[in-house]
Amino acid sequence: MEFLQKLGETAKGLSDKAKEVARRSGEYLEATRLKMELSRLERELTNNFLSVGELVYRRFKGEEGLDAEIERLLSATKKVEEDMLSIQEQIDRLQPRPLVCPQCKVELPSGGKFCSYCGIMVAQEKR
Ligand SMILES: [Zn+2]
Repeated sequence: MEFLQKLGETAKGLSDKAKEVARRSGEYLEATRLKMELSRLERELTNNFLSVGELVYRRFKGEEGLDAEIERLLSATKKVEEDMLSIQEQIDRLQPRPLVCPQCKVELPSGGKFCSYCGIMVAQEKR
């Protein structure tokens, strides 16, 4: 109990800046977790493509009764793809990708209207 009490007092003592740091590291951990989930789904997608390819080939060679399994795999693959998109959106919300100049591909600080390198006008994305 004493430990928890101390923890509580420490938390109360945190300055706003430290709280901001804690929030950011929480977001960082969450983004890391999401990225791991994303790579897991990428592997699943690759495996599904391989399996579908093998089944389609066996059907091509004349094996019967594979249609239902192929259909099931295709639906599952579409679901995986949708999950990947949604996870990528969550990652982007947690860690917005830096704006890149469309002309010279230099990374730009947010807020500016012009590329500081080549001077081209840059449309700022709204998030
Ligand atoms: Zn530029």
